[in-house]
Amino acid sequence: MADKGEVILKVKNVSKVFSSKGINVRAVTNVSFDVKKGETIGIVGESGCGKTTLGRCIVRAIEASEGEVLYKTLEGREVNFLTLDKKQMKPIRKEIQMIFQDPYSSLDPRMTVLDIVAEPIRANYPKMPKKEREELVKDIAEKVGLNTTYLMRYPHAFSGGQRQRIGIARALILKPQVIVCDEAVSALDVSIQAQIINLLKDLQREMDLTYIFISHDLSVVEHISDKVGVMYLGRMVEFGETEKLFSSPRHPYTEALLSAVPVADPDVKMERIPLQGEIPNPANPPSGCYFHTRCRYCTKKCTEVAPELTEVDGRMVACHRAEELSLRGFDYSKM
Ligand code: SF4
Repeated sequence: MADKGEVILKVKNVSKVFSSKGINVRAVTNVSFDVKKGETIGIVGESGCGKTTLGRCIVRAIEASEGEVLYKTLEGREVNFLTLDKKQMKPIRKEIQMIFQDPYSSLDPRMTVLDIVAEPIRANYPKMPKKEREELVKDIAEKVGLNTTYLMRYPHAFSGGQRQRIGIARALILKPQVIVCDEAVSALDVSIQAQIINLLKDLQREMDLTYIFISHDLSVVEHISDKVGVMYLGRMVEFGETEKLFSSPRHPYTEALLSAVPVADPDVKMERIPLQGEIPNPANPPSGCYFHTRCRYCTKKCTEVAPELTEVDGRMVACHRAEELSLRGFDYSKM
C-alpha cells in the first residue's frame, strides 16, 4: 500500500471529445495533475467548464478520448486505469469510487437502503454470506452517521443530507483508496453541506481516503482541499496549493471567481469583478487564450497565441501575463 504523501494517481493529458452529427466538442483538453495519498484536490470552474466530464473520465464512467490515468493500486502495482480491460478492471474498480451530485436521483427508489449500500458487495463478492454482508453495511452506516434501525426503509423516507450519507456509504463499502466527489454537496442546504463536508473530512482521516472534489462552489472547495485546479472551457488554467491560489491568484479567471465568493459579514463590501459575456461555445472556442473574450487584461498576443501551463510563483498557470499582473486574492481577514 502507498504511504501518505506518495503520488497514487497521475492524470496525464486527459482529453474528451464528444462528437455528434459531424460536430466535435472538446469538453476536456490535455488536463494533467498528480494526486498524493491522503490529499484532497479540488476542481472548480463555472458550469460547462468540463470538471464533471474530467471526473467521469478519471473513474471511467465515460471513456476519455486521449490521455492516461496512472494509478498505484493498494497492492502497489502501477496501472493505466484507462486501458484496463473488463477482467483487469474488476479487482481495481472497487479502489476508485464516485459520490454523485444528486442524492435524489442517484439512489434507486425501489431498493431499500440496505440493498443500495450492499449492492457493490453483491457485485464484487457474490459468495459472501448474507449475514456478513449485512454486518458490513451496518458498520459503514454507523460510520457515516445513519441510523441502522432504518436500513429497511426506502430512499424517499430520508432527507437530502441523509440520502447523501447513503450515497457516501455505498461509495465506501468496498474500502476504496480514491473517491471522486462530483458536486457532492451542491444539492444540499448550507447547514447540511457543512455536516457532509465535516463527515467527508472525518472519514478521510479515519479511512486514509484520497479525494478529487469537484464543485462550482469556491468556499466549499477552499474549506476541504489541499490543492485546487481551476478549469475554464475544458482546460486547466491554474493549479496549486489552496491557500496560495486563494490568497494570491495568478490567473485572471481565478481572480474573477474569487471576487464572487460571498463574505459572511454585512459590513464588508466586496468589489466583484464581473466576467463579460457568456462562456464561449466549446464547439467553436476562441482563438489564442480561450479566456480572452472575457478577460479585462487581454492583449493582442492573447487573441492569437494560446498560453501554455507553466510554473509561476509555485503553481501552474496558463496566462501570458501571469508574471506581471498583480491580481486580487481572497482576503482571509474578512472571514
Ligand atoms: Fe487574460 Fe491574456 Fe492571461 Fe488569457 S493570456 S488570461 S487573455 S491576460
